[in-house]
Amino acid sequence: MPELPEVEVIRRFLNLNIVKEQIGFVDVLYEKSIECAGSFGVSTLYDQTVNFVNRKGKYLHLGLDNNDLVIHLRMTGQLYFEPDTIPKDHIRWVFNFKSGKKLYFRDVRKFGRLIIYPKGELEFCKNADIGFEPWEMPLDTWGEKLKTERAIKIVLLDQHVIAGIGNIYADEALYLSGIHPERKASSLAHTEAKDLLKAIRIVLDQGIRYGGTTFRDYLGGDGKKGAMQDHLYVYQKTGSNCLRCSRPISRIKVGGRSSHFCSNCQS
Ligand SMILES: [Zn+2]
Repeated sequence: MPELPEVEVIRRFLNLNIVKEQIGFVDVLYEKSIECAGSFGVSTLYDQTVNFVNRKGKYLHLGLDNNDLVIHLRMTGQLYFEPDTIPKDHIRWVFNFKSGKKLYFRDVRKFGRLIIYPKGELEFCKNADIGFEPWEMPLDTWGEKLKTERAIKIVLLDQHVIAGIGNIYADEALYLSGIHPERKASSLAHTEAKDLLKAIRIVLDQGIRYGGTTFRDYLGGDGKKGAMQDHLYVYQKTGSNCLRCSRPISRIKVGGRSSHFCSNCQS
């Protein structure tokens, strides 16, 4: 599933390419892939201009003249804007811009969603459903959020606590800060909590710089794969040597999620 860096790479690409594009019409090939938060249909988007492309956590937010759109890619969602080539199968909707350019949404597993809100009624703008972005998290709030008996790995994956982190970047950040994924969050000392937040920012920045992580489905908005998978420390490296101590990377389940770590370097 795409995490914050992957969605941010797509956001940056779309922000450069679809802002100021005006929607002519929308082809809907799989009806459930689009939800309307109101008594209107997809045709409400016709003639509207894309004014900005934002992101909150793993969600993309497109601002139009009269509507806000949220796109959640879920497991296998892919956005393609004017790709050189595009697979012909599993396309769920197409934005046909008046310029003749097109934005395609492809989704093999069909869990991805485009949700259309009336302007100003976007849910994650109105409530605190999604936690702080990692770069905006105040240190004292972070300390408060960690006052829980839950395993730190599980806390990192909780989108109410902090936005955008999934399995890959949680494992990477815990490795970088030397913290065992099963540690109780409340057992982290102040300096450990501070180091962990710093490590989260480092691995996410790195993920964005390398264009995201592609193991299977993730592609940037231009249809290209990311390269972060070649720069990971522990994620899906079970049995490989730890870069610090050369001992093999272990894999355990924490709260049902695979967790990769070095049992020597992560206390
Ligand atoms: Zn190690």
